Amino acid sequence: MTVQVGKTTATMGKIVLDAPIFDPPAFRLTDEQAAIITGARELGQTVFASRAAAYDRDATFPTENYKDLHRTGLLGISIPKKHGGLGADYQTYALAAAEIGRYCGATALTWNMHVCSTLWSGPLADDLDMDASVRAEHERRRAIHYKRIVDDGAIYSQPFSEGGAAAAGGVAFGTEAKPVKGGWIVNGKKIFASLSGHADYYGVLCTEIAEGQTSSRRNTLYLAIPAKASGVSVVGDWDPLGMRGTVSRTLLFKDAFVEEDAALMPRGVYFQAALRWPHMFLTLSPTYMGLAQAAYDFTVRYLRGEVPGTPPVKRRMYPTKQIAVAQMQIKLEQIKTIWFQAVSEARANPSKEQVLRAYASQYSVMEGANELAALAIRTCGGQAMLKSLPLERIYRDSRCGSLMLPWTAELCLDRIGREALYEAGETDD
Ligand SMILES: Cc1cc2nc3c(=O)[nH]c(=O)nc-3n(C[C@H](O)[C@H](O)[C@H](O)COP(=O)(O)OP(=O)(O)OC[C@H]3O[C@@H](n4cnc5c(N)ncnc54)[C@H](O)[C@@H]3O)c2cc1C
Repeated sequence: MTVQVGKTTATMGKIVLDAPIFDPPAFRLTDEQAAIITGARELGQTVFASRAAAYDRDATFPTENYKDLHRTGLLGISIPKKHGGLGADYQTYALAAAEIGRYCGATALTWNMHVCSTLWSGPLADDLDMDASVRAEHERRRAIHYKRIVDDGAIYSQPFSEGGAAAAGGVAFGTEAKPVKGGWIVNGKKIFASLSGHADYYGVLCTEIAEGQTSSRRNTLYLAIPAKASGVSVVGDWDPLGMRGTVSRTLLFKDAFVEEDAALMPRGVYFQAALRWPHMFLTLSPTYMGLAQAAYDFTVRYLRGEVPGTPPVKRRMYPTKQIAVAQMQIKLEQIKTIWFQAVSEARANPSKEQVLRAYASQYSVMEGANELAALAIRTCGGQAMLKSLPLERIYRDSRCGSLMLPWTAELCLDRIGREALYEAGETDD
């Protein structure tokens, strides 16, 4: 059920709060989940929404929003409670992130990179195989990262794209970590590294290569490299179509030393995760679920003559507008339904059907959000796409979703087609 934006559940000060994207009773959420998701929605609507235009215009990082995420505990949303976090599981995080994406796409997308450093090293790693001593060492190390986030408001990013085939999972990462006494020496380059110059730690995926070894995806390491480490630099400019506040510039690592405790996952565990916990790559989609809802919300408000900053002219009486809104509502419900199911069934060793559904969900959200934004512009008309209103930013931000590796829209189609037609190991020879 899509909750009509005109109906509200609460008020904060003078701002009438939007209804949640996923109504807790209708989607059978617990009170604890609802409280976290409501907190994200309130912060998004009452604070982030009004700042979003400036971050977008100037392509600047939402630093102020991160202070608020820290203040409200959301910076540690997926950190276990015993370590001072909110203890949110995958589904709860995804639903909260959709609410943030509804009001500021760039904040939600960068927050995702940050949260993944705790989600992947946390609940996700707990599902994977490690012997007892490796698990104990991992537990000790991740507590260091958790403490930095909870106590100091440290921000982590997740640069893995390199411009070649590695980010799509085809070959080993070209960024190399050479084991040395007490840690690694890292050399390499990451492109489109969101939070460049603003994260305190870059959660870099790289390949461990000891003297005489050859490069292998099995030896992928996930290392939190301090932004201030010697040999780390940020280069290039950032002036893209959308998601401008992500500040996704190029990162260079030149003989950067990182200590052993920088490992966010033990050796071999990232490779295991990519094979056994594929929904780890669906975490870029919540932002765009929120943008899809935002495009719909805007359209309903605009046609009712209720968008702040526009004359109170109603356009809802025209049958063509009503049909367009009906089409948008149907599309939004389809996106919400498949996405909710996919984020609810994220786990280790999913069935083939669940994996295909995860790809289909990613495709539906990433392409669907922009289709809704395009329909919103056509339906609301010229006055609605002025830069003084959020719709044109929603349109540009939503266009970026299907470009995100490793699950771009093209690669999702590729994998669904192949995996639906071939069982593992099957060939036509
Ligand atoms: C706003 C924004 C923020 C980003 N933030 C981050 C970040 O924080 N960290 C990060 O690591 N990356 C980030 N990225 C990068 C993103 O994940 C992609 O790596 C990037 O968009 C790839 O661009 P490309 O042109 O190099 O892709 P290419 O590798 O040139 O691929 C182009 C297209 O070809 C297709 N393709 C690629 N490989 C294959 C294949 N093997 N088989 C079939 N088709 C294929 C895909 O559909 C892909 O979209 C961000 C991107 C954007 C737009």
